[in-house]
Amino acid sequence: MKAARFHQHGPPSVIQYEDAPDPSPSRGRVIVRVRACALNHLDLWERRGLDRVAIPLPHISGADVAGEVADDGGGRVAVGTRVMLQPGLSCGQCEYCREGRDNLCPRYDVLGLLSNGGYAEYVSVPLDNVIPLPDHVGFTEAAAFPLTCVTAWHMLLTLARVREGDTVLVLAGGSGVGQAAIQIARAFGARVFATAGPSKLERTRDLGAEEVFDHYSEDYSQRVKALTAGRGVDIVVEHVGEATWDRSVRSLARGGRLVTCGATTGHRARLDLRHLFARQLQLIGSYMGTKGELLAAAPLLFDGRLRPVIDEVLPLSHAVAAHERLEAGQQFGKIVLTV
Ligand SMILES: [Zn+2]
Repeated sequence: MKAARFHQHGPPSVIQYEDAPDPSPSRGRVIVRVRACALNHLDLWERRGLDRVAIPLPHISGADVAGEVADDGGGRVAVGTRVMLQPGLSCGQCEYCREGRDNLCPRYDVLGLLSNGGYAEYVSVPLDNVIPLPDHVGFTEAAAFPLTCVTAWHMLLTLARVREGDTVLVLAGGSGVGQAAIQIARAFGARVFATAGPSKLERTRDLGAEEVFDHYSEDYSQRVKALTAGRGVDIVVEHVGEATWDRSVRSLARGGRLVTCGATTGHRARLDLRHLFARQLQLIGSYMGTKGELLAAAPLLFDGRLRPVIDEVLPLSHAVAAHERLEAGQQFGKIVLTV
């Protein structure tokens, strides 16, 4: 098969579009003919190399995949079925997996991190990772959905327990997780504010944020307080980290929840413990989401309530250019490779 893979870590140019071995059929695993694979920031980290994770080389990245079943692995999904893939891989045996909290599995992995992912004509995944697609949902749109949406769903619904009428502040609302979080919070009846860089402010507002603040230049905690009669927001969706942490904590109402899934600007944060207990704040860590949550979120993709934003669609042979575009940070929405 053709694949875009790298034999060594480094800049985007280490990615080569070349022949690679087809995945072998095996019982309990499905082989999918990839039609679209969306990029995530995780792909950049894999390509550059990670301190604590030894990525097998040569390596095929790609967590967000849609395509057609090419081999059913003796299972229940017919060959030719149009599917999108769960990006989370887990052991299925441990206490967390048995409880359906598979993103807490000690052996949790993301498709394309330790295993080969979707930058290829074919990918092999466990049967449980396959979600059939209705005919009207395109491969590009489906590939742009799973990772960011399951991440935002886990943060907002499961951990922060968003309810109708809550106020939610989404950091970096123009990012993949941010775009999903704005749409999910709105779908569940929340009032949404967001932050963005200057070039992404208007497009972030168009996703459904009532007010959008420039997180480089504004003390958005003051703006949030002014817009909520001094109260603050019920929920902050964080993933920026060190650069925004203080302002994000100060944006919370009494009893508010800050849920974070990343620290792109640095991972050292300060906290005044008096605020934590006296204002009864909750600080919650989040990573990915469960298979059950993605199944719960999928109908919102299928009926159009959640619409992944597509920045650019490129052929798999242009994976280097796709990485360069994501690395430059000027994209708005998902960059998707078609195969
Ligand atoms: Zn497990």
